[in-house]
Amino acid sequence: MSDSFTFQTNLLHNKHKIDPETGAVSVPIQHASTFHQYDIDTFGKYDYARSGNPTREALEDVIAELEEGSRGFAFATGMAAISTAFMLLSKGDHVVITEDVYGGTFRMVSQVLIRFGISHTFVDMTDLEAVKNAIQPNTKLFYVETPSNPTLKVTDIKAICDIAKEHDALTFVDNTFLTPEFQKPLALGADIVLHSATKFLGGHSDVVAGLAVVKDPELAEKFYFLQNSFGSVLGPQDSWLVLRGLKTLHVRMKQSVESAIKLAKFFEQQPLVRKVYYPGLESHPQYDIQQKQATSAGAVLSFDLHNEEIMRTFVNHVKIPVFAVSLGAVESILSYPAKMSHAAMPEEERTQRGITNSLLRLSVGLENVDDLIKDFSDALEKADQIHSIQSQG
Ligand SMILES: *Cc1c(COP(=O)(O)O)cnc(C)c1O
Repeated sequence: MSDSFTFQTNLLHNKHKIDPETGAVSVPIQHASTFHQYDIDTFGKYDYARSGNPTREALEDVIAELEEGSRGFAFATGMAAISTAFMLLSKGDHVVITEDVYGGTFRMVSQVLIRFGISHTFVDMTDLEAVKNAIQPNTKLFYVETPSNPTLKVTDIKAICDIAKEHDALTFVDNTFLTPEFQKPLALGADIVLHSATKFLGGHSDVVAGLAVVKDPELAEKFYFLQNSFGSVLGPQDSWLVLRGLKTLHVRMKQSVESAIKLAKFFEQQPLVRKVYYPGLESHPQYDIQQKQATSAGAVLSFDLHNEEIMRTFVNHVKIPVFAVSLGAVESILSYPAKMSHAAMPEEERTQRGITNSLLRLSVGLENVDDLIKDFSDALEKADQIHSIQSQG
């Protein structure tokens, strides 16, 4: 196999590089929903496309190799991958889960799983004592997302996996923000790694998809059973889009991270910016853990402006980034967590978590970083002018 090569090369050099039938250098998109059986008693590899489709399987093979697991699974959305993983649990089980988990996961755990008798405790996973205190006799799962959204808190993946193993529980890690390019949760002891492939893996804001990779082959069998039972699989066209996105993951991440570091340092120096959240800054409280468990801090950062008025003027004057939900795309995306990802959270709780009415999240894309800095400088200057005019008047 290709394991003697680097990750960068493996993105392109894998067993699906060349179609064995035709020599095509792009994975064929197989739309068939059913497959002819040549023998009444012995069916071929594929029978019905929910159970298996060659294009989806190519993506599943590729992500399994990149995440260093035994088997990959592709789903219609990130939430479908995450929800299917939760179905490994049974009535009466308990989950210890990071308090600043993705909003959709929060909703799944707190409003859906609860109806099926699966309980949970939200904890600040940067506090290992709090994690230990949350454990119950029926705790079967630890659910990690790191760095977290939108304040980029970092959880020690290996420490959580060690705690989980002591209690015979599983660990799932949502690796959407860093991707296997920078962080390999399975190598750190996790059982399942989950992705919204809508973000960096797809990378072009043109596909909604989810991926899961399971480490243990036996657990992977159970997971496959659930994928087929629940049935929220990724279609062939979308599987191909994610496969194409993956080919450029390395160059995209490299460029975006380079710019993200520069932008984090730029924002840190702006008088109108109260706080910058980026695990690549030495001032970040979990900088050392981030350095230890990942090879980069990623391409997402958040910054808090002095007040909501300044934030509004700033957003109204930036020209380059799109102002939208989502992240991990070729274009920079500026988001307003208070009104977007965390709109459902009560203001008091939001503010307590640092998600103020003046916090913005930036997913850094592939634009020239000097253009981005100029754009942000100009918008900040505008905010400064308007702000001082107002305070004079
Ligand atoms: C977007 C996102 C999800 C959900 O994925 P969808 O593809 O939108 O269903 C889960 N986790 C994280 C960290 C995300 O950013």
